[in-house]
Amino acid sequence: MADREKGEYTRSVHLPNPPELRQRPLGGSVVRSAAYVFASAEEYSDLLAGRVEGYSYARVANPTADAFAAAVAALEAANIDGEIVGEAFASGSAATTAVLMTYTRTGAHVVAARAVYGGTYALLHRVLIRFGVTVTWVDPVNLDEVRAAVRPETALIWVETIANPTTRLADLPGLAAIARSAGVPLCVDSTFASPAVCRPLEHGANLVMHSATKYMGGHSDVTGGVIVGPPELIHPVREVRIDTGGFLSPDEAYLLRRGLLTLPLRKERISASALQFATALADHPAVESVAYPGLPRHPDHELAGKLFDRSNRPDGGPRYGGIVTVTPHGGFDAGLALANGLRVALNASSLGGVHTKVSHVASSSHRQLDDAALATAGIRPGAVRFSIGLEDPDDLIADATAALDGLR
Ligand SMILES: *Cc1c(COP(=O)(O)O)cnc(C)c1O
Repeated sequence: MADREKGEYTRSVHLPNPPELRQRPLGGSVVRSAAYVFASAEEYSDLLAGRVEGYSYARVANPTADAFAAAVAALEAANIDGEIVGEAFASGSAATTAVLMTYTRTGAHVVAARAVYGGTYALLHRVLIRFGVTVTWVDPVNLDEVRAAVRPETALIWVETIANPTTRLADLPGLAAIARSAGVPLCVDSTFASPAVCRPLEHGANLVMHSATKYMGGHSDVTGGVIVGPPELIHPVREVRIDTGGFLSPDEAYLLRRGLLTLPLRKERISASALQFATALADHPAVESVAYPGLPRHPDHELAGKLFDRSNRPDGGPRYGGIVTVTPHGGFDAGLALANGLRVALNASSLGGVHTKVSHVASSSHRQLDDAALATAGIRPGAVRFSIGLEDPDDLIADATAALDGLR
């Protein structure tokens, strides 16, 4: 008997397949599928059992998200022998959560930088503490303090390449030696640096995490996270990621991978502008201090020279990143007035985008800290954090200078 003509509803859901691509789409592609069709029941069971490679379900793996994670791994692994892989996440915080849940358990101890991102602090101090994980907070350039903090039950060391908003660095080679002798991974949140400024694996880190929401996306329109490292450290985190569900969506992954194409270009321009901006403001009479690793007076300037990338710099010097923290004389109110006096830089949340953004630290990201806690963290009540963008640096300098002039 000839094939029966299928009904309208059946024909509608069984549309012809889209064309198979013989040419690689240069613009990348977005695979939005939550489910996949298998050649046979056996193929599905082989896939689930890991006997064949492929895609089975959106939360487990997605080609667009995998392409983004592999791209970040390639950038971070530029000078590394041995395989480096990546895993994508719905946010930087989802990535941090998966790493911490993989490498800690009840009774475990974490050594973490005192100045970590607020969400990381909350995760350790408010969430994981309920599961019996303890933390010792350290200064990641004070290696004696870090060494003294390590205990037999220490499970990992967690630091950031460049701390918010102090712009202090972590002594990655020194920390790597401590981690190695303790037999624990050194995990580095390198969001503020990005691989265009620093590649922590080159300096002995075991695992690198990014909030891709910031410099990788770069346009203030995407949320995502990623971790990279050797397969034996990343695969267990992937298992936790699958079980906890914080996977990156395909549309976000597409935008993040596209962002990587211009990451060095943006970061180069941002670093050059930030150095010009920090240098121009450092001696303004209304300024108490300017924190920027590119300034010779910065306490970690020399370390930055060892850790930070020098590619494509006309002057051969390193890129120092885009975060500049300006503290005017006059305390909390002067900081608010500086932020309010700006016309080019925007009072806006987040950082790392094409727009220059500011935040008055003590009333925004660090509002939970009282004056004593701010002082312990090395933050002055008037500090204003600038995330330098792509505007003309002269416009940014004129804008900040006018706002500072208005304070006097
Ligand atoms: C933003 C940020 C995070 C958290 O990332 P989300 O994408 O917001 O979850 C972690 N670390 C640093 C340094 C950040 O700036």
